[in-house]
Amino acid sequence: MKTDVQVVVVGGGIVGAAVLYWLAKLGWTDTLLIERRELTSGSTWHAAGNTTYFGPYAEMTRLFAGSIRTYLQAEQESGHSINFHQTGSLRVATTARERELFHRFESKYRTLDIPYHVVENDVIEKLHPCINTEGLFGAAHTPTDGHVDPSGATHALAKAARNYGAVVQRQCPVESINWDGQRWLLQTPSGDVRCVHVIMAASFWTRELLLPLGLNIPLYATEHHEMITESVPALVERQSEVPAYRDSYVSCAVRQEAQGFLAGIYETDPVFWALDGIPKDFREELLPPNTDRLMTHLEKLIHRLPAFGEVGIKTINNGPMCWTPDGLPLLGPIGENEGLWLASGFNVGIGTGGGSAEFLAHWIVNGKPNFELPIVHADRFGNDITQHDAIESIKACYRQGFRLPEQL
Ligand SMILES: Cc1cc2nc3c(=O)[nH]c(=O)nc-3n(C[C@H](O)[C@H](O)[C@H](O)COP(=O)(O)OP(=O)(O)OC[C@H]3O[C@@H](n4cnc5c(N)ncnc54)[C@H](O)[C@@H]3O)c2cc1C
Repeated sequence: MKTDVQVVVVGGGIVGAAVLYWLAKLGWTDTLLIERRELTSGSTWHAAGNTTYFGPYAEMTRLFAGSIRTYLQAEQESGHSINFHQTGSLRVATTARERELFHRFESKYRTLDIPYHVVENDVIEKLHPCINTEGLFGAAHTPTDGHVDPSGATHALAKAARNYGAVVQRQCPVESINWDGQRWLLQTPSGDVRCVHVIMAASFWTRELLLPLGLNIPLYATEHHEMITESVPALVERQSEVPAYRDSYVSCAVRQEAQGFLAGIYETDPVFWALDGIPKDFREELLPPNTDRLMTHLEKLIHRLPAFGEVGIKTINNGPMCWTPDGLPLLGPIGENEGLWLASGFNVGIGTGGGSAEFLAHWIVNGKPNFELPIVHADRFGNDITQHDAIESIKACYRQGFRLPEQL
């Protein structure tokens, strides 16, 4: 393994691979990505792959749009498929107030040059005939987003980065990170590595890896369920995929998966995983599902999407999902010594990973990001936040699901 490089990226999920790729695109190839097990061994392998734009922070849309662009670019350069399905997406309005808030986003999307329309119920029915529009107030429609294969995208990014000269070291857990007075020193079972910059893309593991440096990074994992149905007759009959659909009343995100549905649920009472520390023997396995917690959401979902209830559920996945107290990622420098950077805390890392990596790589290489986005700066929580306060904030965020804040 290389022992002396300019940059080490710790973690080979979609975010670490994307950072390695963007550094290479900007000309930095004396780089080494170190992954504990295999690429995607954290949350990335079991993600649904949604890269849908609409959310409460219009500023974040630039990261979403940058992500699809990044993955498509990496696919072209590497020849490795990312399996992008440009289905578009519908965020339905469950109240008149929601619809009013949707209109406020129109000018923001225009500025970003991203197609965005507030549509009526008849348009929803045309685009997605399975949705029961009774009681809805239309939807926000973004026709150019969709979903990718998270594993395909990670491998495309890593392969494209390798083609530029970057190196990926798998099966190599970083055991410690220290400042030796001049450079960063990382210890691994395959030997020590010294570098000028360390980029922490190790998701919820980042917290534990940086604790010995006196850094208190508020990163905790919740359990997160997704359900996949058997084939749905109404989808089998169609020539094209239905758009992804999100709903604040059900608190779910649903997209087509083959000829069935895949639904991710944001529970009202989130359950945390591994608060006392990530188990040392945790590899990348799923957590035991708990269907009781999903029942109220399921009932609402079947009301809105009756076809969901007409077939069986063939798979339920429960996986750990990384959170920060405000639900946004942590990007940028951290700590007192220069060269330590965070690219962690992603709960929609497929949606935002590619654009975030571009943002951070510009910051590292050029001394500033490619645009201003203070809401994601890594040091925004300070070093004194307690676990209790962080957990309470995360609960509120998770519970919020797809509801928009009253103040936009
Ligand atoms: C059920 C479910 C569905 C989801 N669906 C979506 C979705 O549709 N869209 C979306 O955008 N997001 C989704 N997510 C969230 C998404 O999975 C994550 O946001 C994303 O995968 C985070 O990527 P990451 O690279 O930050 O972290 P990870 O993928 O967790 O990667 C971190 C990597 O760091 C490595 N690592 C840890 N410690 C060390 C060490 N000491 N040394 C070396 N390497 C180390 C790990 O092995 C791992 O590979 C979903 C999550 C779940 C649980």
